[in-house]
Amino acid sequence: MQTADELLRAHGLRVTRPRLAVLDVLAGGGHLEVDEIARQVRLRLDSVSTQAIYDVLGALSRAGLARRLEPAGSPARFEARVADNHHHVVCRGCGEVADIDCVVGQAPCLDPTNASGYEVDEAEVTFWGLCPGCQSRRVNDH
Ligand SMILES: [Zn+2]
Ligand SMILES: [Zn+2]
Ligand SMILES: [Zn+2]
Repeated sequence: MQTADELLRAHGLRVTRPRLAVLDVLAGGGHLEVDEIARQVRLRLDSVSTQAIYDVLGALSRAGLARRLEPAGSPARFEARVADNHHHVVCRGCGEVADIDCVVGQAPCLDPTNASGYEVDEAEVTFWGLCPGCQSRRVNDH
């Protein structure tokens, strides 16, 4: 297992306390909004500006250590599960996001019949529906 320090260095990033803290928060799993990441980072470090958190998330995403997703109509979320080309299902009711394993595994998992001459390397697949909680709320409302 690589430590977070080694992980940062292996991806050409300088080791800083905010970067370590953000990695640690993301390692907890899930798809976190920036506000939530900032809240959890501030439990670990004294004062970190929200702008600094955005900067760290940008650097981690560019280095391939974090994945950014931005479902239509929701703020951006970040996760530590990278490089497996998994997809997301988003709840139309509450905005909750869950992972869906890609059946194919490698990008692009869909091949367009006509790519207009483009060399396609990714298909962004987002499933939409109602999470279990919202389904039972819907039933109870009746
Ligand atoms: Zn829901
Ligand atoms: Zn995910
Ligand atoms: Zn797929």
